[in-house]
Amino acid sequence: MQVIFIGDGADLDAFSTGYGITILYPKAKILIPSAVSTTVRLAYKRFENRLKDKIITYDDLKEIDTLFLADTNNYKNAVRKLKKFITEKTEIIIYDHHPLREKLPKKIVKKIKKTGSAATIVVDEIKKKKIEISPEDATILVLGIYEDTGNFTYSSTTEKDLKAAAYLLKKGADLDTLKSIIEERIDQEQIYIIHQLVENIQYFLLKDKKIIFTFAYYDRYIPDISAFLHMIKPLQEADAFFVLINERGKTSIIARSKRKDIDVGKIMSYLGGGGHYTAASATVKGLTVQEIKNYIESILLSEAYKNKKIAEFMSTDIATAFKNTQIKQLKELIDKVPVLFVVDERGKFIGITLSRVLKESLRHGIENVRVENFVIDSIITFEPETTLSEAEKMITLSSQEYFPVLKNGKPVGVINRTYIIKILHGQVFDSEKDIFISRERIKPKFLNYEKKLQKYLPEHIFFHLKEIGKISKELGFNTYLVGGIVRDIVLGKKNLDIDLIVEGDAIRLAKEYAKKKGYPVHTFEEFMTAQITLDTGEKIDLATARKETYTHPGAYPKVEKATIKEDLYRRDFTINTLAVELTEGKFGILIDFFNGLKDIKDKMIRILHQLSFIEDPIRILRALRFAGRLGFRLGKPTEKLLKLAVDENMLDVAPTGRINLELNYSLNEEKVIDILMLMNRYRVLHSLIPEFYMDDKREEILKRLRDTIVSFEMFFDIKIDRVSNYLLALMYHLPFDISYKLLRKYHFSKSIKFFEEYYEVKDILREIPEKDSDLYKKIKFIKKDILVYICASSDIELSERIIKILKKEEERQLLISGKDLRELGIPPSPVYKKILDDVFKKYLDDEIKSKKEALEYVKSRYLQP
Ligand code: ATP
Ligand code: MG
Repeated sequence: MQVIFIGDGADLDAFSTGYGITILYPKAKILIPSAVSTTVRLAYKRFENRLKDKIITYDDLKEIDTLFLADTNNYKNAVRKLKKFITEKTEIIIYDHHPLREKLPKKIVKKIKKTGSAATIVVDEIKKKKIEISPEDATILVLGIYEDTGNFTYSSTTEKDLKAAAYLLKKGADLDTLKSIIEERIDQEQIYIIHQLVENIQYFLLKDKKIIFTFAYYDRYIPDISAFLHMIKPLQEADAFFVLINERGKTSIIARSKRKDIDVGKIMSYLGGGGHYTAASATVKGLTVQEIKNYIESILLSEAYKNKKIAEFMSTDIATAFKNTQIKQLKELIDKVPVLFVVDERGKFIGITLSRVLKESLRHGIENVRVENFVIDSIITFEPETTLSEAEKMITLSSQEYFPVLKNGKPVGVINRTYIIKILHGQVFDSEKDIFISRERIKPKFLNYEKKLQKYLPEHIFFHLKEIGKISKELGFNTYLVGGIVRDIVLGKKNLDIDLIVEGDAIRLAKEYAKKKGYPVHTFEEFMTAQITLDTGEKIDLATARKETYTHPGAYPKVEKATIKEDLYRRDFTINTLAVELTEGKFGILIDFFNGLKDIKDKMIRILHQLSFIEDPIRILRALRFAGRLGFRLGKPTEKLLKLAVDENMLDVAPTGRINLELNYSLNEEKVIDILMLMNRYRVLHSLIPEFYMDDKREEILKRLRDTIVSFEMFFDIKIDRVSNYLLALMYHLPFDISYKLLRKYHFSKSIKFFEEYYEVKDILREIPEKDSDLYKKIKFIKKDILVYICASSDIELSERIIKILKKEEERQLLISGKDLRELGIPPSPVYKKILDDVFKKYLDDEIKSKKEALEYVKSRYLQP
């Protein structure tokens, strides 16, 4: 049999085309699909008598000899549906006007033309073959031509369509019938939607082109809307339009264009649909109408602009400064432009510097520094010829805000990131302009740290964090574990500083949790922080996410509420910016805004922005402390800015109490020597201590101090005052009155005592006695803390002698005691002390070596035979 396939939901054009094929091939029957458009239903009703013999259903199918496809070229779809009836021998003939989706097999007969309707193609063939048709035939055939060309108004309409229609009119096609079918089909629901479409029209201007978006909402699918669009005048006048009809979350888009450069077929293909460049459609789920509109707009913009060159959009109004210029000379310039181009003597571009940064530096009194010191040099630059789409690819990899445009290495223009995005997408996305990283921003990976938390935290702490995350969720807050502990978990180190940041209200969260558990809680309203003391004694610190502004270098900052990102941004180094979400539902997710993870892996200390050390010079000390402790290096720009801050004596303006605290930490670190050597290398010690110098002697004392402290603590089971010892090693070159002033300045009051005592005993050892017992007499009143220093700073031989004496002193009780004397029959009296001292003296001088010898000596010396 011969079968005409018109596809599901067939419209009038498919129907007319199918009918035309029955005229060309009288044995062919139209296979009616399960669904057809309203207009097809109306047309069928109207011409039922004429049609009933030409129509079959799926139940009537037998083996197909010839298969016709009407108004579709999707032969795979047809073959799939009819596969039971198709054989090797089945001939396929396609009548269609849609562009091909893919290459068709050779043996298929293709009657495919670029006409406004497919019916035009069959009418043309009927005409050529001079087959006679009745006025009724003509009317049925003309329906499709009128509908698919929008009454000859769509720009896809061709001369052939008009000629075909003219021929059909000549053959008696009845326009009244046509009108009645088209008008009758408009029902109340369709009118309601058309009304919405008229009301909701929005214009979008793309340079000289006028594009319309309009929307309608309905609670179910309304067919045939596209057939009425020609009735909406503004749509017909636009260069292109997009009609979005949303029914319960699903949006059908009908798109038309009159211009080749607005290819709606391509645009719809981005949304999973398709069609011609003039007429296309798509159906989208899961996006709101507004989101679809934004998306289409962004495609329109980027399609229109992507091949344009940067030169067309860049600002040529740029300010340059020679690298040697002192920043005070740039005062006026930086008020006018946000960014300066730094060039060498030959005008070649070196890098950029941000006016904001220079202004802040001037505010902090840094004036004579050369602008070179604030250059950000490893940055992305463009050429005037770079296209916007190339530029876009490059900017997504970085967080840079300003992009210099260079020609032969010299600056000719500048363009900023938001502007490029605005041109291409018509809207400004969240820019990260404040973040100084002249490096590639790595897209954060999704990492779940729940297992690591479980591994590195004690079980009960892990449990508390989970519970806090749950309450946080209930209160509508987000809570994060932050700071050193996250860094140390990554490093696989123990750390029990539980610091939490709450997006919301830390005090409220702390109170809720403490109340539930019956734990004590301290709150600090002014700082928006709280501390819970657990039943096991550990403390959990909670702080409301905040940003801080510094009024002057090193001052304690002012506090304002903020997001976690802003909170992390105010931190000292990237390695300290990692956070782990604790909020229920997101528990364990690692948050890494500033490449912290990479820097830990690369062993790098990096600040987050150029003014970091100037805003808070304490970070100079912290940077070296972490570098020393972890064996990390400073990043290049970080190193440069640290040196600059030291050169500018920023440590002089830092609060002395904080310096005290930070030095205390450093001098108690295990890697104290490494830290001190770094502080020497970066001239931090010179900045803190007048006329400081490092030489072999001092270096040796420092190292021996470290070892001596360790041995003293081990042998004598005491805690040595490290801070005072190292301070003394750093200041022994100074007269006492100067060290005294320094110690006062930095609040090392305990060390003042230590220094005083040291200076008192220091001369005692100017002459060293031969006998250990005499040496003992000299040192026995000196505190061990100080003896440590004396050992470390004396020659090795003396140091060993002292240690040996102190060890013997420790063992004194074991050697011989009052009890032993009693047992020897000596009556208790003050003579005991004399005897014991005498024995110990002999022990020190190696004349007595053991308890046995001691007892013998006492017997022979003090007991009458
Ligand atoms: P440690 O292991 O020595 O305790 P830490 O990183 O936990 O190291 P803390 O002094 O306990 O350091 O500080 C906690 C967090 O507060 C740090 O991780 C850091 O992010 C931040 N921080 C501390 N001091 C500063 C500072 N001066 N500037 C910016 N952020 C700081
Ligand atoms: Mg800590």
